[in-house]
Order: sequence, then C-alpha cells, then structure tokens
Amino acid sequence: MTSRDRLLGTLPTGLHVDGTWRPAEDGRVFEVADPATAEPLAAVADASPGDAVAALDAAHRAQAEWGRTAPRARAEILRRAFELVTQRADEFALLITLEMGKPLAESRAEVAYGAEFLRWFSEEAPRIGGRYATAPDGGNRLLVRKRPVGPSLLITPWNFPIAMATRKVAPAIAAGCTMVLKPAELTPLTTLLLTNVLTEAGLPPGVLNVVTTSDPSTTIQPLLADDRLRKLSFTGSTPVGRRLMAAASERVLKVSMELGGNAPFIVCEDADLDEAVEGAVAAKMRNGGEACVAANRMLVHRSVAADFTKRLAARMGEFVVGAGTEPDTTLGPLIDERSRAKVAGLVDDAVAAGATVVTGGSVPEGRGWFYPPTVLADVRPDMAIAGEEIFGPVAPIMVFDDDAEAVRAANATEYGLVAFLFTRDLDRALRITEQVEAGMLGINTGVVSNPAAPFGGVKASGLGREGGAEGIEEYLETVYIGIRDP
Ligand code: NAD
Repeated sequence: MTSRDRLLGTLPTGLHVDGTWRPAEDGRVFEVADPATAEPLAAVADASPGDAVAALDAAHRAQAEWGRTAPRARAEILRRAFELVTQRADEFALLITLEMGKPLAESRAEVAYGAEFLRWFSEEAPRIGGRYATAPDGGNRLLVRKRPVGPSLLITPWNFPIAMATRKVAPAIAAGCTMVLKPAELTPLTTLLLTNVLTEAGLPPGVLNVVTTSDPSTTIQPLLADDRLRKLSFTGSTPVGRRLMAAASERVLKVSMELGGNAPFIVCEDADLDEAVEGAVAAKMRNGGEACVAANRMLVHRSVAADFTKRLAARMGEFVVGAGTEPDTTLGPLIDERSRAKVAGLVDDAVAAGATVVTGGSVPEGRGWFYPPTVLADVRPDMAIAGEEIFGPVAPIMVFDDDAEAVRAANATEYGLVAFLFTRDLDRALRITEQVEAGMLGINTGVVSNPAAPFGGVKASGLGREGGAEGIEEYLETVYIGIRDP
C-alpha cells in the first residue's frame, strides 16, 4: 500500500459534531478531486442545514464550560497540537498536495507556517489581559476584562488548507470560544486530519465542530440567523465576503473578513534588481500565484523595466510544471477548471488589448489544470488583468516614471491587502509606504506572512487581523465594570 493510499484510507470523511464523526443526516456525500489529474480522491459528508444547526447546538452546549477553562489548559492543548502537526508534517504535506496541487516542498512550508499559529496562540492564551484604573475624576474604579465572544463560525478558503484553518482555530481556542468550522469544498481533507490531531491533543467534545458541504450558502444560512452564533470569521473572495457581511448585519454579528487582494509590487530605479527579481518570484509564485498576497501588478520604473522584465521572465521560465507529488515539480496545477479558465481569460483579454507575452501565456494540452509561468509586458491600468485578482502564475508588468505615479497606480484598486516595494533608499521607502493604502507592506522582501504579525487588509480586502497579538482580540469581547469609589 502506498503512503497516499494509507493516508486516504485512514482519513475521516464525516462531519465532526460534539466529538464524534458521523455521516450527513441524509447520507449525502460529495467528491474531492486531485487538481493534477481531475481524478477523485475521496468522498466526504455533504452537510445539510440541519447538520450545521446540530454543529452549532454542540458548540453552544460546550461554550460555558470551555469559556471557563484555565488559559494555561487551553495553551497546553494548542502546544500539543503544534507538536503533533509537526511530527506528522509529511502526512499533512502529502494531503495538501493531493487536494490542492502545490508541490510537496511548498506544502511542507505551509504545514510549518500553519503549525506555528498553534504554537503562537498557545503562547498568547495566558496573556489575555485586562486593567484596573481610577477614573480621571478620582471617582469610580474602572475594571476592564476580556471574555470569549462565544460560538464562532469559521469559513476557510481552499488555497492554504492547513494555515487558513489554524489561523482561525488557534486564536478561537486560545480565547475560549467554541466553533463550527466550514472548510472549502475543494480542499476539506486537511481540515479533517487536523480535527483528529486537535482531538488527540485533548480538545474536549463540542469545542471544534466541522461541517463539510458542497452547498455552503444554503448549509450555513440558518447559522447566520441563529442568536447563539456570536462571531463569523471568513477568509475568501470579496464578493462572498460582501454577501456574508450583508447577512451578518441583520443580527449585528461580529465579523472578521480576510478577503481578496490586488498587490502592487513596486520596483524603483535604485532597487537591487537581483533582489527585486527574487522578491518578485517569491511574491508571485508562492502557492503558484494562488495567494491573496500574491503580487498582482508589477509596477516598475521605466529606466529598469526592460532589464527587470528580461530577468523575471528568465527566472519564471525555470519553473518545472507538473503534479505536486513529483519530486522535481516547482509549479503545480491551478485548483480547478474554472480557475484556469479565469486566468487564461485574463491573459487572452490583456493580449487582445495590446499586452505582450514575454513567456508562457497558453494553456497546455493534457489532463490536470496546469497553466505555465507567464510574464506580460506593456500592461495598462485599464486592462482587466490590472484590476482583478489573477490567482495564477501570471506577472503583468506596468511602468511608472516617478514615485507619485507609482503611489497613484498602487492605490488604483478597490483592494488594500498588501504592497511590496523595492528600493535602497530608506527615506523613499518610508515615504512611499506611508502613502500606499494596504494593511501590510513588504520592503525589499516578497514575503510578509508571519504568525507573529497582524495579517489583514484595508478597503475591500477586509476587516480585522489574524495572527500577532491582534489575532486573539477577534475572539474576545471587552467588558467594562464600573465600581463605586471605595
Ligand atoms: P470563496 O469566496 O469562493 O470561498 C471561500 C469560502 O467561502 C469557502 O469555504 C466556500 O465554501 C465558502 N463560501 C462560498 N460561498 C459562500 C456563501 N454564499 N456562503 C457561505 N460560504 C460560502 O473563495 P476561494 O475561492 O475559496 O478562495 C480564494 C479567495 O480567498 C481569493 O479571493 C483570495 O484572495 C481570498 N483569500 C484571502 C485571504 C486573506 O487572508 N485575505 C487568504 C486566502 C485567500
């Protein structure tokens, strides 16, 4: 038996409600496919709205007791989960590659990154603070404390199957919240394995309930209308985020939204071009370009644009495209046919409008949802590819003549998740970054994600932060108690 068959053969495929695995109430299942072959990998339970309500029932029942547990006890569960995920990193990595497609080396990096949220929030749980103060007029005493917000609905996307789950589950556990976790229907398997690991680490029944569904809108609808749900944390596309916020507004439900991006990658004429090219490769090609923080628009000073373009195209041409399970592969498939059609459509549209293909640019023959590393020159801001999230290995290059134009171009988008800037001049770096509208900025680096830092966007990229000291606040409520002057 291969490690793949053993892994898939032992994986739970049901709903996890109140500490037990069970089928959907009507017995329905849906298939999860390998994007490298389009072949099915597993069939998992397809939850109904009734199943989702049963999961919320369990979360609600568990909340009072869980919320009273000692922070240290919650920390230790998270720390054990960190150790277990780390020990089982190869299994997690293989599963991520099978269902999501990225090369094994990248999956291993995601497992390390995802596990780090468990460790980081194990260290944050005992630090939930409060304060006691005298009112300015010397009268009342002011006592401020934090308490868990309560049962939370966590909805994750398919692109980082473990990290997007741990980035929500870990702070929710640390804060003392129970939860219903709904993974993306394209990549639910990693979440199911993670659920087993968290149970093994000692998480009590009812704290983490997991519902997989092929029809998320219908299935979770009753939860958003249910008084017992106190928090929605969503990572996904901006259009779905908007719909969920509209539904959440009916009950004034507390929300966190980690939405889409359209990151500018600014290269000034004084940048170290070798570093800028390496940074661009990292910012563009990490996760095959299927990342909310992927560089979406290369904004390059006119005087270095030709050189940058040539060097970037050469580096992009080095990628080995293939199934993520093959040892030599450095670029896996896109997630599905729809995604590939979108990427190809944006490239074709740009070319029709005058962009030049420097490398890549055409859909390969054969099975699997592959798309080659692509560099486009002569891209203009009015092209769709400059305004939309590409979510694929395509680097559109635009030129600018001065810093003010670079800033204007960087901000000419509804999104504001991350921006990257390459320059050797610190004053210039600070001047530009202070004017760029983004929740995160990378200076002379193509990678900013870090569990110890607040991740999140401004404008249509979302609300709230995940990771850092800020991440746990999303799952805490501030309560103030006024006490008469003693
Ligand atoms: P998506 O919006 O299609 O789906 C995200 C999740 O929402 C999935 O679990 C899906 O099942 C669920 N969903 C879809 N429609 C729903 C509905 N009507 N009601 C309730 N749930 C619904 O996004 P995706 O394609 O899975 O992920 C890619 C998107 O996620 C990109 O836009 C990317 O930028 C964004 N993303 C953002 C971050 C971030 O931290 N800002 C991180 C990763 C991905």
